[in-house]
Amino acid sequence: MAIKTVKGRRVWDSRGNPTVEVDVILESGALGRTIAPAGASRGTREAIDLRDGGQALRGKGVERALANVNGPIAAALTGLEVADQAAADRAILGLDASPLKETIGGNAAVAASLAVLHAAAAEAGKPLWRHVADHYGREASLPLPEIQIFGGGAHAGRRVDIQDFMIMVPGAKDFDEVMEVTNAVYFAAGDIMAARGKLAGVADEGGWWPSFDSNEEALETLVTAIEKAGEKPGERLVISLDIAASEFGKDGEYHLALENRALDSSALIDMLGAWLDAYPIVSIEDPLGEDDPDGMAEFTRRFGDRVQIIGDDFLVTNAGLVERAAAAGACNAVLLKVNQAGTVSESIETFRAAQAAGWGCVVSARSGETEDVSISHLATGLGCGQLKVGSFQRSERMAKWNECLRIQDKLGAERFVRGKPLEASWWGKKRKG
Ligand code: PEP
Ligand code: MG
Repeated sequence: MAIKTVKGRRVWDSRGNPTVEVDVILESGALGRTIAPAGASRGTREAIDLRDGGQALRGKGVERALANVNGPIAAALTGLEVADQAAADRAILGLDASPLKETIGGNAAVAASLAVLHAAAAEAGKPLWRHVADHYGREASLPLPEIQIFGGGAHAGRRVDIQDFMIMVPGAKDFDEVMEVTNAVYFAAGDIMAARGKLAGVADEGGWWPSFDSNEEALETLVTAIEKAGEKPGERLVISLDIAASEFGKDGEYHLALENRALDSSALIDMLGAWLDAYPIVSIEDPLGEDDPDGMAEFTRRFGDRVQIIGDDFLVTNAGLVERAAAAGACNAVLLKVNQAGTVSESIETFRAAQAAGWGCVVSARSGETEDVSISHLATGLGCGQLKVGSFQRSERMAKWNECLRIQDKLGAERFVRGKPLEASWWGKKRKG
């Protein structure tokens, strides 16, 4: 079925900033709609969101991006067969020869590309997850969530240096159990902060605001919260971290502002290694900076057989960077953010590169989100195993978890991956005995 109309409109994200929504309408009347998310701790090599600059809306206006959607992108997509996602994405990419999509804007590109995917699913009469599974020859499965309890870094005014203190519940039998366990830990953490007189609202992704005197105190408090929730850390439930080291380091020099400490690569690796020894951490994202490939390879050499090591800013959902990192022995998993790549097809290429390398893959939200739930469907349809959305509060986060519950109703609880994505880690090895 041919694409008849492509229309962009300005809507608003979870931080109150303007963003791009795109409707793709087919000759049949079927509709696909997506909203572009926005990152705060952005990789320097990811697709650039086109913003208007100037005084209005603090420079974050999206009128230029919308003009690109309603002008050249609409012209390039109109008349194309909606089921041919690759052709639609080629048409979008054909409008912008710049490496980071600064001409059409990553925000314009991702919303248009994902809206085509949604329209194709609507035309086929399928939920998006099933369309993704069928279109890309994948077996759908419900992902294991990574859920933030404390936010930090660029999402919390840099109140602590480390960005995400999260839990995963690989021992859960279904998605409902993950939600129940998370509810218990999340509120136990809030109770502890309240009892210490340190409850101060939530960070950008809904995790508790990190009123701590050191980065490690957040980790200690997370363990206390897990125990207070009646769980044994490292049994049904484990910890994961996003260090987002590019936010506090450059050229192999890292500065922990909260602790007024400077570390070189190897000192940061040692510090994180000591955390891996002391806490039940099973996954760690961007432990070194995006410009520190040697540090990343060294970290992976030392700890890659124990924990999942995810590249986010380091790999920016780029297939070529995944291939290069795999060849260099840096990382063993990729974070998949469609708006880092800019189009669905490029994201799928990255997913395939990760698969070819034998890596894990975590589909991820951005810190600026909306009611859009595309990523719940993408993670399920690709059967990639893991989904990172942020915390357990604020509707732009809960919408994604709730959508997974609806998908579970259709797919069946037995198609939840459980702890499978963590089989290669110490947790999986311990499970196997
Ligand atoms: C992240 O770093 O994984 C993240 C989701 O943050 P942002 O969207 O700000 O890049
Ligand atoms: Mg990250």
